[in-house]
Amino acid sequence: MKLLTFKGGVHPPEKKELSKDSPLETFRIPEKVYLYLVQSAGSPPKLLVEKGEEVKTAQKIAEASSLISANLHSPVTGVVEDITKMFHPVLGAPSDLLVIKRTSEKDEWELLEPIDFESSDPKILIERVKEAGIVGLGGAAFPTHVKLSPPKEIDTLIINGAECEPYLTVDHRLMLEKTEELIVGIKIIMKILNVKKAVIGVENNKKDAIDALKKFSGEGIEVVALKTKYPQGAEKQLIKAILNREVPSGGLPMDVKVVVQNVGTAVAIKEAVVDGKPLIERGLTVTGEGVKTPKNVVARIGTPIEELIDFAGGYNGEVDRVVLGGPMMGIAVPNTSIPTMKGTSGILVLTKEVTGSIYTRNCIRCGRCVEACPMNLRPNVLYKLVQAKKYDEAVSEGLFDCIECGSCAYICPSKIDHVRHLKLGKKVYRALRRGK
Ligand code: SF4
Ligand code: SF4
Repeated sequence: MKLLTFKGGVHPPEKKELSKDSPLETFRIPEKVYLYLVQSAGSPPKLLVEKGEEVKTAQKIAEASSLISANLHSPVTGVVEDITKMFHPVLGAPSDLLVIKRTSEKDEWELLEPIDFESSDPKILIERVKEAGIVGLGGAAFPTHVKLSPPKEIDTLIINGAECEPYLTVDHRLMLEKTEELIVGIKIIMKILNVKKAVIGVENNKKDAIDALKKFSGEGIEVVALKTKYPQGAEKQLIKAILNREVPSGGLPMDVKVVVQNVGTAVAIKEAVVDGKPLIERGLTVTGEGVKTPKNVVARIGTPIEELIDFAGGYNGEVDRVVLGGPMMGIAVPNTSIPTMKGTSGILVLTKEVTGSIYTRNCIRCGRCVEACPMNLRPNVLYKLVQAKKYDEAVSEGLFDCIECGSCAYICPSKIDHVRHLKLGKKVYRALRRGK
């Protein structure tokens, strides 16, 4: 069988075997949830509750404040114990946080009305996606209702089942255990976008998921096997592999008539529309050599990650770091009282033995990072330009085309952390442009 793929990329050890056979387990309702107000890309939502107020499970507690913003709902039945600030690992700074204390072990739900999607207008469906606070669950956390309202004509929906980050297996389990829900979610998205064609792209290391999905395909929904290579699940690489279309530099998938959605997001859309359930929990993988029993978990948003590490049997060996997400694009956290967010696809506990020595040496001009870059950039040159604070030159060299996939840093024999520098370079360039 011919496997679809893209040029460049790397082959890090998959490490999926640690958790891929562990079925999704539902974690108990935490005694307290810690909810950052910033859970998505765009503006933070406007708070609707006050300290001391009682809330039900799934009650809207913050409302989208602008076009790119997402509603937030209470993951538990309880009382707003505090509104404070806590270090936000994605923003890298303290950020507004709600602490909700559970007052009942059972949920008192405030669900939305279920919708019969087949007989509904697409506008009603998209309004529901917005109302339910759904964001991209692949990690980027972009508000889904915005992505599903492209100002251009779309002809294909691509469903991202690549899960190319090493260690993570939650999307694999969703494809196996929630196959029907996923297909319903895809049909809802197809109706919203008014497209007749959807393609589910799955890396070939998940053959059982490909077989399960094929049983439900048809009616314009196709399943394709992708080569197992990182970053196969990045939007531009997925579109190139599946449709042989190239998103232009600085462009978006809609520029080539495509919308890409992650499998977890499609399942969340099914739950919001058919079951009336807003986004209050998500599946994630708790894994790495640093936990005793790696597993796939469904947990309420705002659960402290230390509780989920305990649920996975606690620490194993000498732990070096804990990362939100996978090892390539994830973010290391300063402590484990940090809670999960809508965009948290995994909790990865790495031991010292695995991370090894990470001190940086000088570039030896081997060119491996250039070969590995899926965006045809010269990461070594970009790194040097950013280090020399030559931001304009770095932008001309393609700084903003970098998708921050980490392939260059992974392959570099000198262990240069290009991504950290390139991210910083983008941040400084934007700040300089704003005159700060
Ligand atoms: S330069 Fe950017 S896009 Fe290219 S390999 Fe490095 S992180 Fe990925
Ligand atoms: S892989 Fe590392 S050492 Fe080789 S050229 Fe790129 S930055 Fe330099």
